[in-house]
Amino acid sequence: MAHKLPDLPYAKDSLEPHIDAETMRIHHDMHHNAYVNFLNAALEDHADLQEKSAFDLLVEFDSLPDAVKPAVQKHAGGHVNHSMFWTLLSANGGGEPSGALATEINETFGSFDDFKAAFSAAAGGVFGSGWAWLVVDGEGNLKITTTANQDNPVFTEGSLPIMGVDVWEHAYYLKYQNRRPEYLGAFFNVVDWDQVGSYLAMVRAGEKVIALSDWVAAKRARLEELLGSLTE
Ligand code: MN
Repeated sequence: MAHKLPDLPYAKDSLEPHIDAETMRIHHDMHHNAYVNFLNAALEDHADLQEKSAFDLLVEFDSLPDAVKPAVQKHAGGHVNHSMFWTLLSANGGGEPSGALATEINETFGSFDDFKAAFSAAAGGVFGSGWAWLVVDGEGNLKITTTANQDNPVFTEGSLPIMGVDVWEHAYYLKYQNRRPEYLGAFFNVVDWDQVGSYLAMVRAGEKVIALSDWVAAKRARLEELLGSLTE
């Protein structure tokens, strides 16, 4: 079963003026599509691996044949990262989170403004191409982290992303050129906090964000073991 480019869940011009239609077209139809095509090409001779989701390929990376590892790291990573990224944006986005997400952000970072400043600093500080993420780490805490290239936090540190921003120049150069901080401001105008809150709820419920696997169950079991040992 070949991997497929997911449709954007909205029209390409719907995020204007924050993110322009032409950037969305090139980013989704060309860049994301290329990750999907390269991933399928890399798995051509590996029928068993073709059945796995791109996320599971990252989770099970260590057990993959060496021959496919470089391509999986780049292109399964790119496929997963972009598939999630599109869902994080909405014409009705922006503002501040609410509910459990707001509570956790306030408890972890002090306030939403403190979180936004720390996240923007992390995203602005990525040297070259990469991503900044809000993740639930292996201990169950919210954390800001960054990755290079198309690495996903599940791959680099075993954290589950619930929100992330693409800071590759292809994500913003047409409209913002070298002004990455302006692009980050625009991102915060369209980020869909309800969706981020849904991802947090999925992680807290023991489901992973992109697709189901045993990975989160294993994490949860470890967390429950730890908590259990503290309360014995
Ligand atoms: Mn991108």
